[in-house]
Amino acid sequence: MQNKKRSLTGDRPTGRLHIGHYFGSLQNRVKMQEDDSIERFVMIADVQALTDNFNNPQKVRDNVYQVLLDYLSVGIDPEKTTIFLQSMIPELAELTVYYSNLVTLARLERNPTVKTEIAQKRELFGESVTYGFLGYPVSQAADITAFEGELVPVGEDQLPLIEQCREIVRKFNSIYGETLKEPKAVLSSNKRIKGLDGNEKMGKSLGNAIYLSDSEEEITKKVMGALTDPGRIRKDDLGNPDVCMVAYYHELFSKDEIKTVCEECRAGKRGCVDCKKQLAKNIIEELRPIREKRKYYEERPELLEKILKDGTKKAQEIAKETMRKVKESMKLNYFEE
Ligand code: ATP
Ligand code: MG
Repeated sequence: MQNKKRSLTGDRPTGRLHIGHYFGSLQNRVKMQEDDSIERFVMIADVQALTDNFNNPQKVRDNVYQVLLDYLSVGIDPEKTTIFLQSMIPELAELTVYYSNLVTLARLERNPTVKTEIAQKRELFGESVTYGFLGYPVSQAADITAFEGELVPVGEDQLPLIEQCREIVRKFNSIYGETLKEPKAVLSSNKRIKGLDGNEKMGKSLGNAIYLSDSEEEITKKVMGALTDPGRIRKDDLGNPDVCMVAYYHELFSKDEIKTVCEECRAGKRGCVDCKKQLAKNIIEELRPIREKRKYYEERPELLEKILKDGTKKAQEIAKETMRKVKESMKLNYFEE
């Protein structure tokens, strides 16, 4: 057990998970389950979700179970991966306080992911962002280091956050002595999946996603509305699959057909409507086992509760141990027996 590397990943319960998560991170996590040299943790980041949903606690609560269902339905196995709830580990909040001394405001404001997200959340934050949101990378550093997560399988948008975590770790270790482990991001080959609207990122808070739990009708409707080559008006106009979201998703879901799809599109021999229907059918088929597994768990709420409770209990013990080390290094180890 001692020599095993730990991996930590998580998702914010801000909505159900989508195909961006599936290709960008979930598949990687499932694959990792075959590797016995890794001890795996997956966190439902409800505290982080509150940073931009503090005014909507019910949404966060409901989505904790939605995200848990998504995990189980894609094959994250609670026997092999510890699934836990962030808010039930108070040590994470405690570590966040200590780490917040090790990062400057200017550094947080420069973080490109946080910058983009603040710009997208003008409606919520107005002209001035909250302390909690600006500081979420610090809390994320607490999450990763509390579990000594050396491997962090994430999408590309998370790289600046992992870098920030590494800086905090180095600073901590240089001041208080070698205590924390520096994490490494593990990127999948699909680093970032684009949205149905052509946006660079499919995001659950951006309204441009195909969810793993979408019904057949929903999938079809979304695919029919996906952005296609805007220069193509009539069926026999020559198309450009490079600027078409339908071709983009064919690449993920229609591996065998992708060559024909692109050739026919460029030659003006393929109508967008037929092309979309074919894509919808392939997505529906690929996601079918996921939908079926989800249904199994949906019908067993007590099992869901047990999985989350057991995982959280295990995570609590590990975070306590890290906290003990951190307090010792920081000379805060008062009243110890
Ligand atoms: P939100 O919009 O609420 O931030 P999100 O869709 O960005 O939601 P997160 O919970 O923030 O999802 O991210 C969970 C994980 O999924 C992260 O590792 C992130 O990099 C990855 N991820 C999210 N969206 C994509 C995407 N479009 N392509 C690839 N990976 C993604
Ligand atoms: Mg996000």
